Amino acid sequence: MAEITLDEAQKEVAALRKQLDEWAEAYYSKDAPEVEDNVYDQKYNRLLELEKEFPQLVTSDSITQRVGGEIDSDFTKVAHQIPMLSMGDVFSKDELKEFDQRIQKLVGHPVAYNVELKIDGLSLSLEYENGKLVRASTRGNGNVGEDVTANARYISDIPQTLSEPLTTEVRGECYMGKEAFAKLNQERDDNGQDVFANPRNAAAGSLRQLDAKVTKKRDLSTFIYTWVNPPEGITSQHQAIEEMHKLGFHTNETGRKLSSLDEIFDFIDEYTEKRDSLTYGIDGIVLKVDDLNIEQELGNTVKVPRWEIAYKFPPEEQETIVRDIEWTV
Ligand code: NAD
Repeated sequence: MAEITLDEAQKEVAALRKQLDEWAEAYYSKDAPEVEDNVYDQKYNRLLELEKEFPQLVTSDSITQRVGGEIDSDFTKVAHQIPMLSMGDVFSKDELKEFDQRIQKLVGHPVAYNVELKIDGLSLSLEYENGKLVRASTRGNGNVGEDVTANARYISDIPQTLSEPLTTEVRGECYMGKEAFAKLNQERDDNGQDVFANPRNAAAGSLRQLDAKVTKKRDLSTFIYTWVNPPEGITSQHQAIEEMHKLGFHTNETGRKLSSLDEIFDFIDEYTEKRDSLTYGIDGIVLKVDDLNIEQELGNTVKVPRWEIAYKFPPEEQETIVRDIEWTV
C-alpha cells in the first residue's frame, strides 16, 4: 500500500464507510443496488486493507465488522438463536490456496472440503416443529431477521411437512431461476413497470413482500445447504446435504467432497464454463470444511465462519444495473 498518514487514512475510512453504508442500504433493504457488485467489492476491500494497516480505526459499526442488511420495520422480527453470518470471499486461486494453508495450520493437518455452487439469491432460515414448517425468516442483520413464513408457504419446493417428525432448523438460498426472472421482467416491461436488476434482487424483492399473495405470483425456488442442528450421526457437510434431501428439501446435487486444491481448481474451471448454461444464477464457488466437528472447532469471526470461503467469479459483462427503481408492486 502506498504510504498514507493516520490522518489521511481516517478521512478515507470515513468516506468509504459512508459510501458502502449507502450502497448496502440500497442493496439489502431496498433490493435495488446502485452499483455493480465488483464496484462495491473493490471499495470494501480497500476499507479492509486500511483497517488492517490502521487497526486503531476499526469500529464495531464498520461494515467489515457486521453482517450487512437491516430489517424492514413493517415485518415481524425473528431473533436467530444462532446468527446467520456472511461469508469471507476471495477473487483468485492464489487466495484460495492461502485460505487452505490457513485452515491446515489451524487444524494441524490437511482437510477435505465440500465444494458447492454459490447460489445468487438471499439466505432463508426454515424452522420445523415435529416435522411441520412453523417459521421462515430472512437473514436481516444476522441476529434478527424478517418473518416471511406466509411467503415461504407459497414456494413450492419448501416442504410444509418433513418425511420425519423432526424439530429442527435448516438454512439455504431462496432464488429465482433464469427463466422465471426473464418472464417476470418481460411482464413488468409490458406493463410499463421497472424491471429488476438481476435474479438476486428479483428473488429478494419477491420474498420480502408484506402481502404474501405477491410472492405467490412469483416463481421462487430454494436450495437448502445448512443443517443448523443436525442429529447425531451426521458428521459431514456432504452427508448433511444428502440427509436433508431425504427429509424433503430441495438441495443442489452438484456439491462434491474434494481433498486436493487441484481437484477444487478443476471444479472451479468446470463451473466457470457451465455457469451460463445453468438454469439458476451462481456468483462463485463455496469451500466448506467437510467435517462438522472441525467446523465447530474453527468457529466464526464476528462476521464470517472461519471454515468456509467463497471464490467469486469475475463480473459478468452483460449485467446491467437499473437505478432508482420503484420496488412496490
Ligand atoms: P455474500 O452474498 O457474498 O455471501 C454470503 C451468502 O452466500 C450467504 O449468506 C448465503 O446466503 C449465500 N450462499 C449462496 N450459496 C451458498 C452456499 N452453497 N453455501 C453457503 N452460503 C451460500 O455475502 P453478503 O454478506 O450477503 O454480501 C456481500 C456481497 O454482496 C458482496 O460481496 C457484494 O458483492 C454484494 N453487495 C453488493 C452491493 C451492491 O451495491 N452491488 C451492496 C452490498 C453487498
